Amino acid sequence: MDKVQANRLILLGTKGGASVRKGSPRPSSSALQIDGKTYVIDCGLGVTRALVDADISLSQMDGVFITHLHCDHLLELGPLIYTAWLSGLNRPLNIFGPTGITEYWNSFLAAMSFDHGVRTQNDKRGSLNDLISITTYGEGSVASLGGLTVSALRVEHPPVDECYALKFETPKSKIVFSADTKYFPPLAQFAYGADILIHEAMLDAGIDALVQRIGANPDLRQHLEARHTMAPDVGKIATAASVKHLVLNHLVPADDPEFTDAHWHDALSQTWDGPLSVGKDGMVIDLPNS
Ligand SMILES: [Zn+2]
Ligand SMILES: [Zn+2]
Repeated sequence: MDKVQANRLILLGTKGGASVRKGSPRPSSSALQIDGKTYVIDCGLGVTRALVDADISLSQMDGVFITHLHCDHLLELGPLIYTAWLSGLNRPLNIFGPTGITEYWNSFLAAMSFDHGVRTQNDKRGSLNDLISITTYGEGSVASLGGLTVSALRVEHPPVDECYALKFETPKSKIVFSADTKYFPPLAQFAYGADILIHEAMLDAGIDALVQRIGANPDLRQHLEARHTMAPDVGKIATAASVKHLVLNHLVPADDPEFTDAHWHDALSQTWDGPLSVGKDGMVIDLPNS
């Protein structure tokens, strides 16, 4: 039976960074369902289970995009694809990532060579490699997939040289992911007029509490400020870009009960007065259909 799929964004993992603690959200991953196709953006730990729990069949993925090779965006790429293969994936799947993505994939497959050998030789399953193609992208056009075009803007996320904001455009919708970036004004032009901007965000007041709570080196604040964007600056980008809906993800802090949605709304109140969603794992946001 044909199922008419809604066009939607699903936030699968919304915390910043790779650590996980009891009750914490998952590291970064999202899915976009557009015109019956499913695309996954970033593959932090937990993405496989999160997709299944969001009622998305692993064998129905149409493309995977990695914004940069930090582990909180990459760690579960291989396990996701491998599990999809063992869950019935039987059509080509393209993985798009920056320089180094091919080496990641080849190394992952090498690490799985025993199991892969067993399943292809004994179980007569077709090789996973025959289904997967890897595309290394840079700034500019990334992919043209039917009515969907994907393009990339290199953002500033030191010391990572290649980290890319990604824009997904169809005649009906424009969705932009900031990826990890320090405050980067050119992103406003890239995201101009987007229906949804999904932007990473930090809450100033939450950082010192985070350093204390997890016993991190006090340099963590400096490290975060050099590489990520404070909430009020996220609002500046969204306002300059005239986006229709701002969604915060890659939240820092993400799992401190002292900091609620109200704190995030407060932090943005001076710079953004449009629709705002504070990302939560499993949050679903409809895309425009007309
Ligand atoms: Zn990250
Ligand atoms: Zn990063």
